[in-house]
Amino acid sequence: MIFRFSLKHFLLQQGFIFALVALLGYWFNHVSLFVLAAMMVSLIWNYRHLTALIDWLWQKNLLSPPESNGIWGHVYDGIYRRIRKYRNKQKELNFRIRQFRDGAEALPDAALVLGLDHSIRWSNKKANRLLGIQWPSDTGQLITNLVRSPQLAKYLKSGDFSEPCSITSPRDSTKQIEFRFMTYGDQQYLLLARDVSQLILLEKMRRDFVANVSHELKTPLTVMRGYVEMIQDDDGLPAHWSKSFNTIEQQVTRMDRLVQQLLVLSKVEVQGYDDIRAQVQMPRLIEQVIEDISWINKTKQHQLSFEIDPRLGILGVESELKSACSNLLVNAMNYTAQGGVINICWNKQDGYCLFRVTDNGCGIVPEDINRLSERFYRVDKSRSRDTGGTGLGLSIVKHIVNNHRGQLIIESEFGQGSSFTIKFPVGESYQIR
Ligand code: ADP
Repeated sequence: MIFRFSLKHFLLQQGFIFALVALLGYWFNHVSLFVLAAMMVSLIWNYRHLTALIDWLWQKNLLSPPESNGIWGHVYDGIYRRIRKYRNKQKELNFRIRQFRDGAEALPDAALVLGLDHSIRWSNKKANRLLGIQWPSDTGQLITNLVRSPQLAKYLKSGDFSEPCSITSPRDSTKQIEFRFMTYGDQQYLLLARDVSQLILLEKMRRDFVANVSHELKTPLTVMRGYVEMIQDDDGLPAHWSKSFNTIEQQVTRMDRLVQQLLVLSKVEVQGYDDIRAQVQMPRLIEQVIEDISWINKTKQHQLSFEIDPRLGILGVESELKSACSNLLVNAMNYTAQGGVINICWNKQDGYCLFRVTDNGCGIVPEDINRLSERFYRVDKSRSRDTGGTGLGLSIVKHIVNNHRGQLIIESEFGQGSSFTIKFPVGESYQIR
């Protein structure tokens, strides 16, 4: 039950007691003596309770208060209620902290809570095994002092944690560790680190396998093509055989293209931004690409228009950039009907260098747009097959664009046309003299 202090009630009670004492004093003819004695008794009673309260608060380790009644009983009760409330809150808080820690311990990753200055506040046991960080003895130390890696220091300094950061373990050079950073709670970070050596090894094995198989397929395909062409050259070949060999030739050409694209993909997949970069004269490169694929245009008679900045060059890998531009242009031609309009643009816009191919072809439905750069993803398989498509073109473009720190933006409206834009950071450009 909640006690409510009433001053009126208190004064009435005290007044009644002192009036009674005064009446008794009057009876014995010693009013002042009786009132003084009553005041002394009241003072001693209050003093005793005060010392008991101090004793309870500071000396005794008991939760329950000393026995009392009257106003002091209510004081003890009030304090006791408060203490119990705080204890319950603390218990709940401890329970939540334990839950968080148990959860963080159950993670397959090393987990660390860092302050804004990247000093360690807490870490789980796996952080000790993977990074050698011990909690609580390493509390307050900077993570970069304990995990010595220039890449990690650069990553933390950059403040851009949208992508994870992979480093070679400072404790074991055969291991690769991936760090993920998240802002967490109030002014702190959650850092998750995991050993990705196996994943990287598997990815490398996959890439090597695809590259090796593609390489091994090249010779048999060349031999097959040679024999097929030799047989096709024979004038006495019966008509039904001629048709069969034409089909074989078409399929061998398709496989050859697939093998070539797979080899290009395995190459661009391993390349990174730090690989050799040179000045690439994009206007000349675009001209070359148009020339190389002009045979498609001869049959389809597209109207090509250009908006090219003749002085704008970019730093990069020429062969890769040529492959990316060529893939986008070939696609525009393949997926735009005869006589369609294709615009090719290379210039600076809104602080970026843009290479954009716009067509008024078949367009793409919104559901497919995000999946176009997946390997072997084709919107309409039969149509893509007719155009000799492998479904690898945009995947190659995406890797090349990433290697150049660019972005691939696809905009399209079904039935109206599409626009494929590569955005390069303007810092990567240069002025052609
Ligand atoms: P493909 O070799 O099949 O052309 P890509 O990876 O280059 O493979 O393209 C993937 C798919 O994206 C294509 O199959 C096609 O459906 C669609 N696509 C690509 N470019 C265009 C475009 N300009 N217009 C319409 N669809 C396109």
